[in-house]
Amino acid sequence: MLLPMTKPRIIFISGVGRSGSTLLDRVLGQTPGVVSVGEVYRFWSHRYLRRSWCSCGALVAECPFWDAVEGELGATDAAEAEAQEARQWRVVSQRNLPLLPMRPLRTKGFAEDLAGFLAVRERLYRAILKAGDGSVVVDSTKIPRFALALARSDRFDLRIVHLVRDSRASAYSWVRPKSAPTPDDPNARMQARRAAQVSAWWMVSNPLTELLRLQGKPYLRVRYEDYVRDLEPWAAKVLDFAGIDARPVGLSGSEVTFTGDHLIAGNPIRKRMGTTQIRPDDEWKTKMGRRDRLVATAMTWPLLLRYRYRI
Ligand SMILES: [Zn+2]
Repeated sequence: MLLPMTKPRIIFISGVGRSGSTLLDRVLGQTPGVVSVGEVYRFWSHRYLRRSWCSCGALVAECPFWDAVEGELGATDAAEAEAQEARQWRVVSQRNLPLLPMRPLRTKGFAEDLAGFLAVRERLYRAILKAGDGSVVVDSTKIPRFALALARSDRFDLRIVHLVRDSRASAYSWVRPKSAPTPDDPNARMQARRAAQVSAWWMVSNPLTELLRLQGKPYLRVRYEDYVRDLEPWAAKVLDFAGIDARPVGLSGSEVTFTGDHLIAGNPIRKRMGTTQIRPDDEWKTKMGRRDRLVATAMTWPLLLRYRYRI
């Protein structure tokens, strides 16, 4: 008799980029059974279509962990990876967002794309759990449209961690030039955006994430400013929320000790190894330009109040 397979359990970190998601992903991943893999949606591009580093220091294309994942999934070539990429972006496009909850409105093409996307995602998460010998994956993709697409299927045990950061800090982090060397460019910088763009995105991304709670998905809101000040209790809270019966590992006060993990993409902190002191990054309070600060505050104040930030 075949036993029913358990659904892959996923801690999906949703929110706006530069909110400390890579740190949270790694902190959780130090606990046995928790497999921290960064921005999962970039698997196809970073494994097959470009040269990029895994957090272990190897290229994603050559990392033994991702080799093991590929061993489970079966090898893919560049053309197939491009097709996977294109399909996932069709599924999560802004234009198709209303089709996700409205089954009768879906075109045949969209329904096929969504079914294919969900089937491949299930196989990918299962392969990650097997390669990492774990019971839960941490996916810090952040883009809520991916979580909304995954939420259309009952084949995942999806737990949403809504990571919120003060919009002024988010905007400042995107405006400020930040070094992020790549295997091909030691002088590369992280993508920059204007404060107004980030603020507009902040005002869309947060309500979209809250939509997942309205849809009945398990949901936990974590504020960056709270968890970086109290890493251990917050990590314990997230593990408990994910049904992991274990205490966080590698934390001592404001210090975290990173051992080997295999994150795709994300903040440069993903490449740090050993013990690191974590300090809240509130440089925006003293260094953010007056105009950017005004723009961000004016565009986001209703939700700033909702998330208990001072205006
Ligand atoms: Zn690796």
